Amino acid sequence: MSERMSAHTKTVLGVLSEKRCHLTAEEILARVNGVGTATVYRALDSLTESGRIRRLSLGKKSAVYEYTRDAHMHFVCSCCGGIYDIRADFSGMIGEAAKCGGHQVDWSEITAHGLCSACLLGREAGDSFERRDA
Ligand SMILES: [Zn+2]
Ligand SMILES: [Zn+2]
Repeated sequence: MSERMSAHTKTVLGVLSEKRCHLTAEEILARVNGVGTATVYRALDSLTESGRIRRLSLGKKSAVYEYTRDAHMHFVCSCCGGIYDIRADFSGMIGEAAKCGGHQVDWSEITAHGLCSACLLGREAGDSFERRDA
């Protein structure tokens, strides 16, 4: 696929591929000096459309973007809102399951929810933790 990428789009892609983490549009904006807000949002849209990055709506944080690489699932901490990658690929299984209904899976996103290790430690250390799980 021959697509022309603007310098700004390359900069935005560079931030995401370098950091290898999940960043909100605001966090990306803070890392690209001298690139306008509208330009960054446009770059994010075109990169998402071309499949180079993925836009994820996880947990209570605003949508995050990540560089598309190996398949993995996400773990979202319901306490601090942290997003963690979990190395597990269920895409084959999901593809097979979807075939039963005659569907074709292009991509899938699996998210697990709970408490991250840092929050668990804080809890054990006696930090006040108001919420009680139903
Ligand atoms: Zn946490
Ligand atoms: Zn991820």
